[in-house]
Amino acid sequence: MAVDLLRYAQEAAYCERILAKSGLTVVTATLAQSATPTHWTHYPEGDVYDFESGAHWYYHSHAPLEAAQREASDAAQSEEPEPSEHGHFHCFVRPDGKGGPVHHLIAVSVDSMGRLTRLFTVARHVVDDADISAEGRVALLERFDVQLDYPNYLVNRWLTAVVGLYQDEIAALIREGAERAVRDPKLDVTAQLETTLAQKVSRAPRAEC
Ligand SMILES: [Zn+2]
Repeated sequence: MAVDLLRYAQEAAYCERILAKSGLTVVTATLAQSATPTHWTHYPEGDVYDFESGAHWYYHSHAPLEAAQREASDAAQSEEPEPSEHGHFHCFVRPDGKGGPVHHLIAVSVDSMGRLTRLFTVARHVVDDADISAEGRVALLERFDVQLDYPNYLVNRWLTAVVGLYQDEIAALIREGAERAVRDPKLDVTAQLETTLAQKVSRAPRAEC
């Protein structure tokens, strides 16, 4: 694994370890302590936005019944939750600041234990995304760097590390998703990759010594 990717993998593992030691996961550290999570509600309240990098994210989950009904009425691939999915982090960059256009980069699905399960891209209508070329979107990946304490510093670093670790796969998903969205405008999820951090690390080529 290339040195920078190895660093991202180590950072993601470190964040998970310290969260676990604290009795938390990336999910529980994101949700309000006492709140019962509600489908479609953004967590944390007000989303997370780092004005220095322009990175922006929120976590939410979809109601399975609603997704199933939508799937039954529409052959298009809807943004339905995977059976094992608890929810997902929608990751964006606002290159011109909070008042400027917002561009979705990737959604990061996790299970109820906060473990990565899937990465996916969505059509622009799903997240009110401003138009941009696939290459322009790919170029924004390096801007996704969240250095904030809200809602939790380790969650922000974990998410930054996952996007960095999978930068090549996410770029491929963005390009594939852009092509598929043109061919089928009804798609919600335009491209996806099922993965786990353990798989990613074990399948990566060894770093040359
Ligand atoms: Zn979503």
